[in-house]
Amino acid sequence: MNRLGRHIEIRGIVQGVGFRPWVYRLARENGLAGRVCNDSRGVTIDAFGSDRALDSFLESLSASPPPAARIRELDWKPIPPEAASGFVIVESREGESRRVSIPPDLPTCSDCLAEVLDPANRRHRYAFTNCTNCGPRFTIARDVPYDRPATTMAAFRMCALCQREYDDPGDRRFHAQPNACPACGPRLWAAGPGGEELGWEDPIRHAAKALEAGFIVAVKGIGGFHLACDATSASAVARLRARKKRDEKPFAVMARDLEAARRLSHCSAEEERLLASSERPIVLVGRRKGAGIAEDVAPRNPWVGLLLPYTPLHHLLLRETDRPLVMTSGNLSGEPIVHGNARALERLGAIADVFLLHDREIESPCDDSVARVIAGRPTVLRRSRGYVPRELPSPRRFERPVLACGGHLKNTFCLAAGDSLYLGPHIGDLETLETVEAFEEAVSRLERFVGIRPEIVAHDLHPEYHTTLYARTRTEARTLAVQHHHAHVASAMAEHGLEGPVLGVAYDGTGFGTDGTAWGGEILLVRTEGFERLATWRGLALPGGETAIREVWRIALAFLDDAYAGDPPLETLALFRGIPGQRLAAVRKLAAERVASPLARGVGRYFDAFGSLFLCRPFSHFEGQVALEWNAAADPGERGILPFEIERDGRIPALDLRPALRAAVARLREGASAASLSALFHNTVARGTVELLRVAAGERKDLPLVLTGGCLQNALLAERLVEELGSDFRVFLHGDVPPGDGGLALGQAIVAGAVTGKRGGL
Ligand code: ZN
Ligand code: ZN
Ligand code: FE
Repeated sequence: MNRLGRHIEIRGIVQGVGFRPWVYRLARENGLAGRVCNDSRGVTIDAFGSDRALDSFLESLSASPPPAARIRELDWKPIPPEAASGFVIVESREGESRRVSIPPDLPTCSDCLAEVLDPANRRHRYAFTNCTNCGPRFTIARDVPYDRPATTMAAFRMCALCQREYDDPGDRRFHAQPNACPACGPRLWAAGPGGEELGWEDPIRHAAKALEAGFIVAVKGIGGFHLACDATSASAVARLRARKKRDEKPFAVMARDLEAARRLSHCSAEEERLLASSERPIVLVGRRKGAGIAEDVAPRNPWVGLLLPYTPLHHLLLRETDRPLVMTSGNLSGEPIVHGNARALERLGAIADVFLLHDREIESPCDDSVARVIAGRPTVLRRSRGYVPRELPSPRRFERPVLACGGHLKNTFCLAAGDSLYLGPHIGDLETLETVEAFEEAVSRLERFVGIRPEIVAHDLHPEYHTTLYARTRTEARTLAVQHHHAHVASAMAEHGLEGPVLGVAYDGTGFGTDGTAWGGEILLVRTEGFERLATWRGLALPGGETAIREVWRIALAFLDDAYAGDPPLETLALFRGIPGQRLAAVRKLAAERVASPLARGVGRYFDAFGSLFLCRPFSHFEGQVALEWNAAADPGERGILPFEIERDGRIPALDLRPALRAAVARLREGASAASLSALFHNTVARGTVELLRVAAGERKDLPLVLTGGCLQNALLAERLVEELGSDFRVFLHGDVPPGDGGLALGQAIVAGAVTGKRGGL
């Protein structure tokens, strides 16, 4: 038999996901000799054996990688055969790049789940079962390289059986850093709200009973605490809502498996793939009416955020209760997710009746991620647990290391150096001291993990955002302000490797413009390092400023006054019936005299105005609530549009929806439903955007066009825009990077890299 040799290089997500033991087993199955090792860019293999064995080895390599691995490139070349006998895993070399060493957390694999459910297995019902294919990673890492002593598992000494698995290259647990069993690993226990241990022999079974009885259980998970309750019980959900002081924001629901998810929702094949993906995000899917989920889980919402179990504890709880469970982040409104036992008892003691605690510490808090299928494409809306800290493909080389601080709401940050680009975990709205602290801790932790010391710190143009103030404290680095919508467009460009120039449609609620006003209906011509504003939307007055974003009736009122030249038919509009005449008059006066009434151009504000008026919603209880309801109300069967105009008298063209408002009011009088008016509105926004582009883009219409900003989380709007624009433009949407402010930091980093690279350093 002729012995041959091949050198194989594999790039992609191939470290910390059980790749080398899997290669080892494949090589042995094929009777090959040689070695496999990690290097700074992935995995390399030298394999020796017969032509046929090598071919079959290569074939299985690309055909069936471990569940969490992603092979981006696989190259091989022939090498002279060696007389090696046997196949070995070569230890990682000293000085190996830090930048690839900590993988994201992985959901329980099917092998581990089978063990947990097997009464004869030593890990039967053990909540911390894991292997190289699954288990916590990023959230338990304390330092790099990612090795057990540098994780929160350092506190546990492996028993002889676990150690044997850990040392055996043929075992699924070879070098599984969090490897554990009931004899040696973390322990689970139940406590009351005062922290007293409840002494339950089987905490999972008891907690399940408590859930069935309508109690609220705080469950310590991978990236933090969840608050759980029976999603089918209206009274349990109402109690959780009341105690969490969370008015109407939807709760996520965990379903036992895909079959259960299908019973609760109308999920497509693409949505099922997303639910079961190794990132295990919360997936927004169409809610099945009458499927048993209490209405209050997501009030007046046709969608529900579903997720599947991703730890053995989840699997056991869901099997034990055999019903969907609300699994919402364990935090108080406006605070970051709680991740320590003591803190959980302190902050959640007044919410939960029972605490399921354990002694494996969470080093890096990490919220659940959120995703949705938009225009047929999986789109990440909140990129956190399961995705972080996976490297994103970088469209450019960063000559100098960059930290981008992100936006003010739904904050994430970004680190970039060389060819590496990382988005940090979801931090939240930087409006409380706790969140600000969480932001600063997360930044310094990730800087350490990936070994990046920023020389450039990019931040939003808004002078008062916390992130802007924070950037100034980084005195060792140069700071660089990036306009909000410029960053949105750059983040979408980066996803598609577009160098620019591109046309960018950036639609969101608000972002500080270069003229000091609030932008958000912007059409920009973007070269990465700079932009030109081609068109916008007519400004809406926000009487009372920020107050108008909560009291959205104010925006509707000011818009009506604008559209009807001060004489709108208020008496025919139900929205205003509950509002005292004096208040109406006072607010109209503010807007008319332009006192405390800043102009806003955000498309989100138009959603607020229309939604408030035609759904009769005077107030928005959380960011984007009325806009979301206005989106949800639409009847997709309605294909008509409303009239609009393009204003040409300003410096740049602006979309004017006053004719649309007047037409909608007229149709309302003729008995049109909110469902039809909402669809008409969506269609009009899409058609108006095409017209705006025709007017503003001129011969630049052949450039690639990216759609970005928080409004692109609205699937109907995204789909209508794609339909309307698709025939005239080359359209690109978001996928791995959130279209909303959760993706902003990436765009800031790209812009900072381009600006500082161009000038050879600031
Ligand atoms: Zn496993
Ligand atoms: Zn053990
Ligand atoms: Fe934005």
